[in-house]
Amino acid sequence: MASLHEESFVVDAHCDTVLDWTDGRRHLTPRTGEGHIDLPRLREGGVNLQIFALFVAPEYHHERSLPRLLQMLDAFYREIEAHRDEMVLCLTTEDMRRAKREGKVGALLSIEGAEPMGRDLARLRIFHRLGGRAMGLVWNGRNDLADGVGEEGTGGGLTRLGVETVREMERLGMMVDVSHLSEKGFWDVVSIATKPFIASHSNARALCDHPRNLKDEQIKALAERGGVMGLNFYAGFLTQGGEATLDDVLDHAEHILQLVGPDHLGLGSDFDGISRAPKGLEDASFFPRFTEGLLARGYGEDVVKKVLGGNFLRVFGEVIH
Ligand SMILES: [Zn+2]
Repeated sequence: MASLHEESFVVDAHCDTVLDWTDGRRHLTPRTGEGHIDLPRLREGGVNLQIFALFVAPEYHHERSLPRLLQMLDAFYREIEAHRDEMVLCLTTEDMRRAKREGKVGALLSIEGAEPMGRDLARLRIFHRLGGRAMGLVWNGRNDLADGVGEEGTGGGLTRLGVETVREMERLGMMVDVSHLSEKGFWDVVSIATKPFIASHSNARALCDHPRNLKDEQIKALAERGGVMGLNFYAGFLTQGGEATLDDVLDHAEHILQLVGPDHLGLGSDFDGISRAPKGLEDASFFPRFTEGLLARGYGEDVVKKVLGGNFLRVFGEVIH
Protein backbone atom coordinates (compact mmCIF):
# COMPACT_ATOMS: atom_id res chain seq x y z
CA MET A 1 0.00 0.00 0.00
CA ALA A 2 2.85 2.35 0.83
CA SER A 3 4.29 1.77 -2.62
CA LEU A 4 1.07 2.74 -4.40
CA HIS A 5 1.08 6.01 -2.48
CA GLU A 6 4.76 6.55 -3.26
CA GLU A 7 4.42 5.90 -6.97
CA SER A 8 1.30 8.07 -7.27
CA PHE A 9 1.55 11.76 -8.03
CA VAL A 10 0.13 13.29 -4.85
CA VAL A 11 -1.33 16.80 -4.95
CA ASP A 12 -2.67 18.82 -2.03
CA ALA A 13 -4.59 21.67 -3.66
CA HIS A 14 -4.84 24.02 -0.69
CA CYS A 15 -3.01 25.09 2.44
CA ASP A 16 -2.54 28.35 4.32
CA THR A 17 0.99 27.66 5.56
CA VAL A 18 2.45 30.85 4.01
CA LEU A 19 0.61 32.82 6.72
CA ASP A 20 2.87 31.25 9.34
CA TRP A 21 6.01 31.95 7.28
CA THR A 22 5.00 35.56 6.72
CA ASP A 23 4.40 36.21 10.38
CA GLY A 24 7.57 34.32 11.32
CA ARG A 25 5.82 31.70 13.42
CA ARG A 26 7.21 28.67 11.59
CA HIS A 27 9.27 27.78 8.53
CA LEU A 28 9.58 24.94 6.00
CA THR A 29 12.11 23.29 8.32
CA PRO A 30 12.54 22.01 10.93
CA ARG A 31 9.76 19.52 11.53
CA THR A 32 7.65 20.73 14.40
CA GLY A 33 4.51 19.54 16.12
CA GLU A 34 2.97 22.92 15.37
CA GLY A 35 0.43 23.37 12.59
CA HIS A 36 0.16 20.82 9.81
CA ILE A 37 2.73 21.41 7.10
CA ASP A 38 6.49 21.61 6.94
CA LEU A 39 8.92 20.05 4.51
CA PRO A 40 9.68 16.91 6.56
CA ARG A 41 5.96 16.23 7.00
CA LEU A 42 5.25 16.82 3.28
CA ARG A 43 7.93 14.24 2.51
CA GLU A 44 6.57 11.76 5.05
CA GLY A 45 3.14 12.27 3.52
CA GLY A 46 4.47 11.59 0.02
CA VAL A 47 3.22 14.95 -1.31
CA ASN A 48 4.59 15.76 -4.77
CA LEU A 49 2.85 19.07 -5.31
CA GLN A 50 1.58 21.44 -2.65
CA ILE A 51 -0.51 24.42 -3.64
CA PHE A 52 0.30 27.33 -1.36
CA ALA A 53 -2.50 29.88 -1.16
CA LEU A 54 -1.78 33.48 -0.30
CA PHE A 55 -4.68 34.52 1.86
CA VAL A 56 -4.93 38.22 2.65
CA ALA A 57 -7.04 38.42 5.79
CA PRO A 58 -9.94 40.90 5.94
CA GLU A 59 -8.07 43.18 8.37
CA TYR A 60 -5.72 44.02 5.47
CA HIS A 61 -8.41 44.68 2.91
CA HIS A 62 -8.52 47.76 0.69
CA GLU A 63 -5.30 49.77 0.49
CA ARG A 64 -3.31 47.39 2.70
CA SER A 65 -4.13 44.26 0.73
CA LEU A 66 -1.53 44.61 -2.03
CA PRO A 67 1.35 45.39 0.39
CA ARG A 68 0.27 42.39 2.45
CA LEU A 69 0.23 40.15 -0.64
CA LEU A 70 3.74 41.32 -1.56
CA GLN A 71 4.90 40.52 1.96
CA MET A 72 3.46 37.02 1.62
CA LEU A 73 5.03 36.54 -1.81
CA ASP A 74 8.40 37.53 -0.33
CA ALA A 75 7.99 35.05 2.52
CA PHE A 76 7.00 32.34 0.03
CA TYR A 77 10.00 32.95 -2.24
CA ARG A 78 12.43 33.15 0.68
CA GLU A 79 11.28 29.79 2.06
CA ILE A 80 11.44 28.07 -1.34
CA GLU A 81 14.88 29.50 -2.08
CA ALA A 82 16.23 28.54 1.33
CA HIS A 83 15.18 24.93 0.55
CA ARG A 84 15.95 24.86 -3.16
CA ASP A 85 17.52 21.39 -2.93
CA GLU A 86 14.24 19.91 -1.75
CA MET A 87 11.48 22.18 -2.99
CA VAL A 88 10.87 23.93 -6.30
CA LEU A 89 8.35 26.46 -7.62
CA CYS A 90 6.31 24.95 -10.46
CA LEU A 91 5.09 27.13 -13.33
CA THR A 92 4.08 24.34 -15.71
CA THR A 93 2.97 20.71 -15.46
CA GLU A 94 6.38 19.73 -16.86
CA ASP A 95 7.90 21.48 -13.81
CA MET A 96 5.62 19.36 -11.60
CA ARG A 97 6.66 16.10 -13.23
CA ARG A 98 10.32 17.08 -13.13
CA ALA A 99 10.06 17.87 -9.41
CA LYS A 100 8.84 14.33 -8.74
CA ARG A 101 11.55 12.80 -10.94
CA GLU A 102 14.20 14.79 -9.07
CA GLY A 103 12.79 13.85 -5.68
CA LYS A 104 11.72 17.40 -4.84
CA VAL A 105 8.41 18.68 -3.56
CA GLY A 106 6.76 20.99 -6.08
CA ALA A 107 5.14 24.24 -4.95
CA LEU A 108 2.34 25.94 -6.86
CA LEU A 109 1.33 29.47 -6.00
CA SER A 110 -2.30 30.54 -5.66
CA ILE A 111 -4.21 33.55 -4.36
CA GLU A 112 -7.21 33.06 -2.09
CA GLY A 113 -9.44 36.09 -2.64
CA ALA A 114 -8.70 38.74 -5.27
CA GLU A 115 -8.72 41.74 -2.92
CA PRO A 116 -5.05 42.56 -3.70
CA MET A 117 -6.02 42.89 -7.37
CA GLY A 118 -8.41 45.72 -6.58
CA ARG A 119 -10.06 46.66 -9.85
CA ASP A 120 -6.90 46.35 -11.91
CA LEU A 121 -6.33 43.40 -14.24
CA ALA A 122 -2.71 44.60 -14.61
CA ARG A 123 -2.14 43.32 -11.08
CA LEU A 124 -3.55 39.92 -12.07
CA ARG A 125 -1.11 39.76 -14.99
CA ILE A 126 1.78 40.74 -12.71
CA PHE A 127 0.74 38.09 -10.22
CA HIS A 128 0.86 35.56 -13.03
CA ARG A 129 4.37 36.77 -13.92
CA LEU A 130 5.37 36.34 -10.29
CA GLY A 131 4.39 32.67 -10.48
CA GLY A 132 0.69 32.61 -9.61
CA ARG A 133 -1.14 29.82 -11.40
CA ALA A 134 -4.51 29.77 -9.60
CA MET A 135 -6.82 32.23 -7.90
CA GLY A 136 -10.05 32.14 -5.97
CA LEU A 137 -12.02 35.24 -6.93
CA VAL A 138 -13.28 35.85 -3.45
CA TRP A 139 -13.12 34.66 0.15
CA ASN A 140 -16.25 34.63 2.30
CA GLY A 141 -17.18 38.29 1.91
CA ARG A 142 -17.87 40.55 -1.07
CA ASN A 143 -15.24 42.20 -3.25
CA ASP A 144 -15.13 43.96 -6.63
CA LEU A 145 -15.27 40.62 -8.46
CA ALA A 146 -17.90 38.57 -6.69
CA ASP A 147 -19.84 37.67 -3.58
CA GLY A 148 -18.45 34.97 -1.30
CA VAL A 149 -20.40 32.27 0.53
CA GLY A 150 -20.89 34.57 3.50
CA GLU A 151 -23.04 36.82 1.31
CA GLU A 152 -25.49 34.12 0.19
CA GLY A 153 -28.44 36.16 1.35
CA THR A 154 -27.85 38.77 -1.33
CA GLY A 155 -28.07 36.25 -4.17
CA GLY A 156 -25.07 37.99 -5.72
CA GLY A 157 -22.70 36.34 -8.18
CA LEU A 158 -19.93 37.70 -10.40
CA THR A 159 -19.63 41.37 -11.27
CA ARG A 160 -18.68 42.46 -14.78
CA LEU A 161 -15.10 42.75 -13.53
CA GLY A 162 -15.41 39.23 -12.13
CA VAL A 163 -16.43 37.96 -15.57
CA GLU A 164 -13.54 39.83 -17.20
CA THR A 165 -11.16 38.38 -14.62
CA VAL A 166 -12.24 34.80 -15.36
CA ARG A 167 -11.67 35.44 -19.07
CA GLU A 168 -8.25 36.98 -18.43
CA MET A 169 -7.26 34.10 -16.14
CA GLU A 170 -8.19 31.60 -18.85
CA ARG A 171 -6.17 33.59 -21.39
CA LEU A 172 -3.15 33.69 -19.07
CA GLY A 173 -3.45 30.01 -18.15
CA MET A 174 -4.50 30.33 -14.52
CA MET A 175 -6.86 28.00 -12.68
CA VAL A 176 -10.15 29.55 -11.58
CA ASP A 177 -10.92 28.34 -8.05
CA VAL A 178 -14.59 28.45 -6.98
CA SER A 179 -14.14 27.44 -3.33
CA HIS A 180 -15.60 30.24 -1.17
CA LEU A 181 -17.61 31.63 -4.10
CA SER A 182 -21.36 32.19 -3.59
CA GLU A 183 -23.69 29.72 -5.28
CA LYS A 184 -24.83 32.32 -7.83
CA GLY A 185 -21.15 33.10 -8.51
CA PHE A 186 -20.51 29.40 -9.04
CA TRP A 187 -23.24 29.20 -11.68
CA ASP A 188 -21.91 32.38 -13.32
CA VAL A 189 -18.52 30.67 -13.66
CA VAL A 190 -20.21 27.58 -15.10
CA SER A 191 -21.94 29.72 -17.72
CA ILE A 192 -18.84 31.68 -18.84
CA ALA A 193 -15.90 29.30 -18.32
CA THR A 194 -14.47 27.78 -21.46
CA LYS A 195 -11.92 25.65 -19.57
CA PRO A 196 -12.19 23.31 -16.59
CA PHE A 197 -12.18 25.02 -13.20
CA ILE A 198 -11.48 23.76 -9.69
CA ALA A 199 -12.94 23.90 -6.20
CA SER A 200 -9.61 23.51 -4.41
CA HIS A 201 -10.94 22.87 -0.90
CA SER A 202 -14.68 22.10 -0.66
CA ASN A 203 -16.71 19.03 0.34
CA ALA A 204 -20.15 17.59 -0.43
CA ARG A 205 -23.08 19.57 0.98
CA ALA A 206 -25.27 16.45 0.83
CA LEU A 207 -23.18 15.04 3.70
CA CYS A 208 -22.49 18.25 5.59
CA ASP A 209 -24.85 21.13 4.96
CA HIS A 210 -22.41 24.04 5.12
CA PRO A 211 -22.35 26.85 2.53
CA ARG A 212 -18.61 26.19 1.96
CA ASN A 213 -19.53 22.79 0.51
CA LEU A 214 -20.95 22.08 -2.94
CA LYS A 215 -24.46 20.81 -3.65
CA ASP A 216 -24.77 17.71 -5.81
CA GLU A 217 -25.92 19.79 -8.82
CA GLN A 218 -22.82 21.96 -8.45
CA ILE A 219 -20.55 18.92 -8.26
CA LYS A 220 -22.17 17.55 -11.43
CA ALA A 221 -21.73 20.85 -13.25
CA LEU A 222 -18.09 21.11 -12.18
CA ALA A 223 -17.54 17.54 -13.41
CA GLU A 224 -19.30 18.19 -16.74
CA ARG A 225 -16.78 21.00 -17.29
CA GLY A 226 -13.93 18.57 -16.60
CA GLY A 227 -13.11 20.19 -13.27
CA VAL A 228 -11.82 18.75 -10.00
CA MET A 229 -12.71 19.39 -6.36
CA GLY A 230 -10.30 18.85 -3.47
CA LEU A 231 -11.47 17.26 -0.21
CA ASN A 232 -11.22 19.68 2.70
CA PHE A 233 -10.13 18.19 6.04
CA TYR A 234 -11.77 20.83 8.23
CA ALA A 235 -13.98 18.98 10.72
CA GLY A 236 -16.67 21.68 10.42
CA PHE A 237 -17.02 20.98 6.67
CA LEU A 238 -17.04 17.20 7.18
CA THR A 239 -19.69 16.62 9.82
CA GLN A 240 -22.49 18.63 11.36
CA GLY A 241 -21.13 17.88 14.83
CA GLY A 242 -17.78 19.40 14.02
CA GLU A 243 -15.80 16.33 15.13
CA ALA A 244 -14.39 14.26 12.30
CA THR A 245 -12.24 11.26 11.50
CA LEU A 246 -10.54 9.84 8.42
CA ASP A 247 -13.75 7.86 7.83
CA ASP A 248 -15.73 11.07 7.40
CA VAL A 249 -13.28 12.24 4.74
CA LEU A 250 -13.67 8.87 3.01
CA ASP A 251 -17.46 9.21 3.19
CA HIS A 252 -17.28 12.51 1.28
CA ALA A 253 -14.89 10.89 -1.20
CA GLU A 254 -17.29 8.00 -1.77
CA HIS A 255 -20.27 10.29 -2.22
CA ILE A 256 -18.49 12.32 -4.88
CA LEU A 257 -17.07 9.24 -6.62
CA GLN A 258 -20.55 7.71 -6.78
CA LEU A 259 -22.05 10.95 -8.04
CA VAL A 260 -19.63 11.85 -10.84
CA GLY A 261 -17.15 9.01 -11.23
CA PRO A 262 -13.40 8.89 -10.61
CA ASP A 263 -12.16 11.85 -12.67
CA HIS A 264 -13.22 14.86 -10.59
CA LEU A 265 -11.98 14.30 -7.07
CA GLY A 266 -8.74 15.26 -5.38
CA LEU A 267 -7.29 16.49 -2.09
CA GLY A 268 -7.41 20.05 -0.76
CA SER A 269 -6.61 19.65 2.92
CA ASP A 270 -6.81 23.30 4.00
CA PHE A 271 -3.96 22.44 6.39
CA ASP A 272 -2.68 25.35 8.45
CA GLY A 273 -5.95 27.14 7.74
CA ILE A 274 -8.09 24.89 9.93
CA SER A 275 -8.36 24.61 13.67
CA ARG A 276 -9.56 21.01 13.80
CA ALA A 277 -8.17 18.26 11.55
CA PRO A 278 -9.79 14.82 11.46
CA LYS A 279 -8.61 12.05 13.73
CA GLY A 280 -6.31 9.93 11.60
CA LEU A 281 -5.39 12.81 9.26
CA GLU A 282 -3.79 15.12 11.81
CA ASP A 283 -1.20 16.68 9.53
CA ALA A 284 0.48 16.32 6.12
CA SER A 285 2.43 13.24 7.19
CA PHE A 286 -0.87 11.29 7.36
CA PHE A 287 -1.79 11.37 3.63
CA PRO A 288 -0.81 7.68 3.16
CA ARG A 289 -3.63 6.80 5.60
CA PHE A 290 -6.10 8.29 3.13
CA THR A 291 -4.71 6.01 0.43
CA GLU A 292 -5.02 2.98 2.73
CA GLY A 293 -8.58 4.02 3.55
CA LEU A 294 -9.69 4.26 -0.08
CA LEU A 295 -8.11 0.89 -0.90
CA ALA A 296 -9.78 -0.63 2.15
CA ARG A 297 -13.14 0.59 0.84
CA GLY A 298 -12.55 -1.39 -2.33
CA TYR A 299 -11.40 1.25 -4.79
CA GLY A 300 -8.90 0.11 -7.39
CA GLU A 301 -5.40 1.47 -7.81
CA ASP A 302 -6.42 3.47 -10.91
CA VAL A 303 -9.12 5.34 -9.02
CA VAL A 304 -6.89 5.93 -6.01
CA LYS A 305 -4.14 7.39 -8.19
CA LYS A 306 -6.57 9.77 -9.86
CA VAL A 307 -7.87 10.99 -6.52
CA LEU A 308 -4.41 11.39 -5.00
CA GLY A 309 -3.35 13.80 -7.72
CA GLY A 310 -3.84 12.44 -11.22
CA ASN A 311 -7.04 14.43 -11.65
CA PHE A 312 -5.54 17.74 -10.54
CA LEU A 313 -2.51 17.12 -12.74
CA ARG A 314 -4.82 16.54 -15.73
CA VAL A 315 -6.71 19.79 -15.14
CA PHE A 316 -3.51 21.78 -14.64
CA GLY A 317 -2.32 20.39 -17.97
CA GLU A 318 -5.49 21.59 -19.67
CA VAL A 319 -5.41 25.10 -18.22
CA ILE A 320 -1.85 26.14 -17.34
CA HIS A 321 0.35 26.94 -20.32
ZN1 LIG B 1 -10.25 28.73 2.24
